[in-house]
Amino acid sequence: MATIVQKYGGTSVGTIDKIKAVAKKVIERKKEGNDIVVVVSAMGKTTDKLIDMAKQISDNPNKREMDMLISTGEQVTIALLSMAFQESGYDSVSLTGFQAGIKTGGVHTKNRIFDIEIQNVENHLKNGKIVVVAGFQGMNENGDITTLGRGGSDTTAVALAAKLNCTCEIYTDVDGIYGVDPRIWPNAKKLDYISYEEMMEMASLGAGVMETRAVEIGCKYKIPIYVASTHGNQKGTYIKEYDETMEEKVITGLSISDDVLMVTVNNVPYNSKNISIIFDKLAKHHVNIDMISQTAPFNGYINVSFTASKEDVSTINEVEKELKGEIQGIKVSKESDITKLSVVGIGMMKQSGVASSIFTIFAENDIDFKQVTTSEISISYTLDSKDKQKAVTVLAQKLNL
Ligand code: ADP
Ligand code: ASP
Ligand code: MG
Repeated sequence: MATIVQKYGGTSVGTIDKIKAVAKKVIERKKEGNDIVVVVSAMGKTTDKLIDMAKQISDNPNKREMDMLISTGEQVTIALLSMAFQESGYDSVSLTGFQAGIKTGGVHTKNRIFDIEIQNVENHLKNGKIVVVAGFQGMNENGDITTLGRGGSDTTAVALAAKLNCTCEIYTDVDGIYGVDPRIWPNAKKLDYISYEEMMEMASLGAGVMETRAVEIGCKYKIPIYVASTHGNQKGTYIKEYDETMEEKVITGLSISDDVLMVTVNNVPYNSKNISIIFDKLAKHHVNIDMISQTAPFNGYINVSFTASKEDVSTINEVEKELKGEIQGIKVSKESDITKLSVVGIGMMKQSGVASSIFTIFAENDIDFKQVTTSEISISYTLDSKDKQKAVTVLAQKLNL
């Protein structure tokens, strides 16, 4: 008999019929003699709708109240799913994040799990119950409800699996991890395995199929994560430790992110103090900067560009006002029709020439890019969103993703 944590995402529990279907799928595994913890997301687009309601009241709603609001979605699902188990004759209990012992720290709407007091979950499992836990939520040291950031139900599931030292199964609306998001490149190839490192990199660079922090926890505690479709029994993808047999390709995947705001500060007098002022102000306002580029000095002036998340636009507007007071004559422009494409692969650590082969692919297809950054296992390019589909197509074809 094994303990298993299963997680079902928003689309998978989007209607009452879908909740009933999830209950059936879980019961099949329960019948095999397993102890099961099920983590669920809010139904369908509930979280988006709740955020939209708050935005109708305030442009910048209080973050504590935001957590109070957006944590409610998951609570609806746990109660309904638990009822579905009971209706089929299976004993079950629904638990909020707090009841499941999930303790968090950090700032509201972006909390991190720092510990789980697992006794309550374990006691219910011992009593033969299917334990249904609300994803995405926990409680902080003040006793306030917190949330873990968008997609955070994955994190709840993997953290529970780490605490219970068992496998984590993530069921979603795709049947595994593909080399490229199959919604954008329908011919993408499904991977049997992917290393934690590559999945973390792909997730952090925009592959929304798994939440980055969830993979990080899986990696830290060596918890095997299996990603598969909620519907049917097609083979999914294992996220696990890297081993030599996985290294068939230099590039494993291509991540796509449209959450890119590119800001250019023009007419900056060429002086390193000014660059420091710009980035110091952004840091003090907690704006997370991604890529940075700078033009060569011309007549004593430079232009500095950086990218950030679109979420930070109102904070960046504040920074802009302050900068204009300190550096005379600057002009700030913002572009939001920007896409970041990132190729990811552990094989890059040993192989040179990857960046140049991608420059060649872009050149042969008349695709211009704006910025490039590299890490040990990835290379990212920003480009105009109008070139996104073409760039994804040529890269996926040439790199066989
Ligand atoms: P859930 O609600 O189940 O958490 P998500 O929407 O968060 O589901 O994640 C599933 C989606 O991730 C898929 O519908 C797919 O479009 C997207 N996705 C992005 N990159 C990839 C990838 N490389 N492989 C598979 N799916 C991906
Ligand atoms: N419901 C939350 C969200 O939409 C958490 C999750 O689905 O993982 O982001
Ligand atoms: Mg998700």
